[in-house]
Amino acid sequence: MKPFRRTLVPIAAAVLALVMAAPALALDLDVDDELDSDTQPAAAPAGGGAAAATDPRYVWDLSTIFKDDAAWEAERQALLAEVPRLTALREGFGRDAASLRAGLDRLSAINQRARRFFTYASALASTDNRNPRHQERSGQARAVWGQIGSATAWVDGALRDIGPVRIEAYLKAEPGLAKHRVRLQEVQRLARHQLTPEAETALAAMSPAMSATTQIRTLLVTTDIEWPTITVDGQPVKVDNIGYQRLRAHPDRAVRQQAFDAFFKTYARFQGSLGAALAQRVDAGVANARLRQYPSAVAASLAANDIPESVYRTLVAETNKALPTLHRYLKLRQRLLKLPDLAYHDVYPDIVTAPRRYSPEDAAELTLAAVAPLGAPYQKQLREALAARTMHVYPAPGKSSGAYQSGVYGQVPLIFLNHQDTFDSVSTYAHEWGHGMHTLQANGAQPFETASYPLFLAEIAAFTHELLLADHVKKTAKTREERVFYLGEAIERIRGAFFRQAMFAEFELATHDAVQRGEALSGTRMTRQFCDLLRKYHGADAGVMRIDPSVCTEWAFIPHFHRPFYVYQYATSMAAATHFTQQLLTGNPAARDTYVGLLRSGGSRHPVPLLKDAGLDMNSPAPYQALVRHMERLMDELESLLPAAPANPA
Ligand SMILES: [Zn+2]
Repeated sequence: MKPFRRTLVPIAAAVLALVMAAPALALDLDVDDELDSDTQPAAAPAGGGAAAATDPRYVWDLSTIFKDDAAWEAERQALLAEVPRLTALREGFGRDAASLRAGLDRLSAINQRARRFFTYASALASTDNRNPRHQERSGQARAVWGQIGSATAWVDGALRDIGPVRIEAYLKAEPGLAKHRVRLQEVQRLARHQLTPEAETALAAMSPAMSATTQIRTLLVTTDIEWPTITVDGQPVKVDNIGYQRLRAHPDRAVRQQAFDAFFKTYARFQGSLGAALAQRVDAGVANARLRQYPSAVAASLAANDIPESVYRTLVAETNKALPTLHRYLKLRQRLLKLPDLAYHDVYPDIVTAPRRYSPEDAAELTLAAVAPLGAPYQKQLREALAARTMHVYPAPGKSSGAYQSGVYGQVPLIFLNHQDTFDSVSTYAHEWGHGMHTLQANGAQPFETASYPLFLAEIAAFTHELLLADHVKKTAKTREERVFYLGEAIERIRGAFFRQAMFAEFELATHDAVQRGEALSGTRMTRQFCDLLRKYHGADAGVMRIDPSVCTEWAFIPHFHRPFYVYQYATSMAAATHFTQQLLTGNPAARDTYVGLLRSGGSRHPVPLLKDAGLDMNSPAPYQALVRHMERLMDELESLLPAAPANPA
């Protein structure tokens, strides 16, 4: 069972972060969430037993962030006392180079403190959401964040008013401004897409109304819709988002089929309302792009990190060329599952049984061994970080689902897991520590101001760890069955993280392009569009997989469509990570230095030029060709093992 689980910010938190973050103060907590659903299946019993939830080896020590609650509360009071001073900072801000530097240094210091403050509260809350004190603390943290945001909302406007010519002169005159260069140049770069102050104020006032559609969808799906119940193994099971995700990997094909039917036919009954909600989200994106004079909604969305629209369109075009590789995998899956034909409900069951269980200690050992190609200093740094007691390892009552990494500048990052002793958990462990090492490398090389990296880069570091792990376990497997298992896992991971996300990216492009052409969207129309994509990606016309029309409402199940042009970064990152992993596995020290150099760059430059300097052009087919070559090789290897080692039918 593997819903795609780890990646950034649970969606509610992400939306909140966007709402709360004033332009002057960006809160981009690097937190992972699952790509598929609103909620994850409830955690199975902890692999380490009930005591593991409190065993100090498996529970993080937050006292290095704040000594105790009283220290956190004292900081809350101190930050609140800063708020009026932040508003007053406007007086004389940027009058000359020295005052600009003093002002920006002060804002940076507050930003750093506020992030630390927020991280402590949200980390505690995620370990037990039922605890009222945790809820209260989270609310207080958000309130402080909001007040700081409002009190510094004037900053970008003030920076624009200084203008590019004076900013450049200031940068020359005052060397201490160098660490703020990225920020200063970003404000100037995006200035031409700013509206008049009156229009910006009006839009800001309207924004809660404009984002209501996301909440409408959430309420419909989690509260209003009455989900059907089916009988499985003599027990009634409700087929809501959680039940569906459990049942879609069920070994009995008839159960899967029944679950898919019940689930997606229910979505079909609500496709009118759910379609209207999503259509409004798309309309808002297109309107925003037009108002701000971007050529398209996708261009407007990618502008924040200066990623050209062509990068997105290259992903879609190259994935289409790569579909024969996906089709080969689907046929292989059919063979391994020993099915007479293949349908969409056959995507999730495991093709091979796992050879063993994996403790967190096993996960640590495997991850450490797997990163050897990154060099001894990297391995040593990871070893030390693993011992720093910053992990929250096992599931526990009230604990959030999924996994995330959250960085505190100058410290070993927090790693939040729900370890289940499966290989999937080992992969998650490696993934999150990929983020963790990225944070450590960037923090070691960059000042606070340029240490944070965007998602476009973040997932590359995480997937590179996963791919190195996949390579390591495959090479050290002791039996043929074990190797078949690891190969199957590796290939399936590419399907889920690359092909599925690229298909979503293409759907988002299709819906936005339609509105930009002046066409109207509806639930029925989206179902048709999604059907076309499902059929194309899964080779329905070539007889690879049957796509029953009833599953075409799957778009309504994907919450991330309410966060447009976001998931494509999982696909681009998986492709880029494949390229870097291939380079690293050659053992060439230059490849290692290039890759570690990329991590150390943090957010000091935009991701696309950074990657280009690291030898990877995201506007070219190269990353996608690397991914296809890799997947084909994995399948060659898997097929070569099959005749003598027939896999267990799931
Ligand atoms: Zn991630």
